[in-house]
Amino acid sequence: MKFHITTFGCQMNVHDSDWLTRALESRGWEQADEGEAQVYVLNTCSVRDKPEQKVYSELGRIAAHLKRDENVFAAVGGCVAQQVGRGFFERFPFVKLVFGSDGIAGAPNALECIAEGGDDRVALLDFVSIYEERETSEERTVSLPDTRQAFVNIMQGCDNFCSYCIVPYTRGRQKSRLPDVVVEECRALVESGIREITLLGQNVNSFGQDKGGVGVSFADLLYRVAEIDGLHRLRFTTSHPKDIAPEVIRAFGELENLCPSLHLPLQSGSDAVLKAMRRKYTQERYLSIVEGLKEARPDIALTTDLIVGFPGETEADFQETLNMVERVGYESSFSFKYSDRPGVAAVNMEPKVSPEEASERLMRLQTLQNNITKKCLENLVGLETVAFIEGLSRKQNGEETFWKGRDPAGRIVNVAMPESDGLIGMMVPVRILEAKKHSLMGERIGIPW
Ligand code: SF4
Repeated sequence: MKFHITTFGCQMNVHDSDWLTRALESRGWEQADEGEAQVYVLNTCSVRDKPEQKVYSELGRIAAHLKRDENVFAAVGGCVAQQVGRGFFERFPFVKLVFGSDGIAGAPNALECIAEGGDDRVALLDFVSIYEERETSEERTVSLPDTRQAFVNIMQGCDNFCSYCIVPYTRGRQKSRLPDVVVEECRALVESGIREITLLGQNVNSFGQDKGGVGVSFADLLYRVAEIDGLHRLRFTTSHPKDIAPEVIRAFGELENLCPSLHLPLQSGSDAVLKAMRRKYTQERYLSIVEGLKEARPDIALTTDLIVGFPGETEADFQETLNMVERVGYESSFSFKYSDRPGVAAVNMEPKVSPEEASERLMRLQTLQNNITKKCLENLVGLETVAFIEGLSRKQNGEETFWKGRDPAGRIVNVAMPESDGLIGMMVPVRILEAKKHSLMGERIGIPW
């Protein structure tokens, strides 16, 4: 069978789609371009604007392929599938499978069964309370990515119910994987040539604090993964400030391969707004975490998520967000205007901030962030670092070949080097020559390894 997967949304979805690709390939299925596939999988996200409409319009496009081959069928997975569920079957008869994030472990078998004519419609929408292990990691080691970077899921779901977020309703309650299984997966990846691992979860800091926990904390897990011989870079995301333990902060000072970067979503700088968001930390607590991190690892690069125009946010509240952005000095941030998402608590919160006001605040916030980002990058000019090469840079000047790599903090570093097959996945010693708006230019100063 030829299949085509389209992915919307976060890194967790990208990772889920990668896993599904490998699981289908291990059954002899082949990835295909959109025009040639027999099975279409949409892995959906409900965080952004009008998510259902986007999925409906994608399905409308897929419907056109039925003219080419009437046996073509589709599967819809992820958060929108969890919300709309069997409703897809009625509206789009060629949708044969819907699966939520807890149901993905069963998706490859269900697809195979449908393709063989065994089942007409399958819905995998139940939430589970214990993490359901997916097929073993052996398949993933046969298709080692060129970049030698890998993501490893350590948990699924979230228990926090932040008032603006749909995730606990679409991904279910938190369930951690067994630490031994995570460590073994990481070890197998490193043995197969992976040099950088990112541990993934909606709230990694509360790893182990659920039914699936066996008394191993996230800090314990970090130390166990970090000691795998041959692992050069270790990262993790996403990190909820309310759950970050002192041991995790300390790990940044003790673990050499734990990269000096942390994405720590602030969302708002105002205690009143944080309370309405149900974030369960204050500005003061957040700043004390930042202080601890900078003490443990002075070169740590902090990034964040921010929401502007949350219901009830006043100009004074917004000023507190601007103040926090300045005080912390984030290297970069993802900032969004608040918008109502059906089913979340914030929908009923008043007063709403007008769209014009929210846009104006967002612009001020992004201008401030751009200035800070610029300074952070300029401060690195002249320093030496190591770029882990991911591929050719998008920007080429015609005379030289530029390669895109990342420094240990995850910043993009473009380096001019001769064209060569073997550079992807190599570490290249570089000196930073110039700061661009969102990236750095470097020169090679040593032999790639
Ligand atoms: S911590 Fe809050 S924002 Fe993050 S996934 Fe859980 S509910 Fe959503």
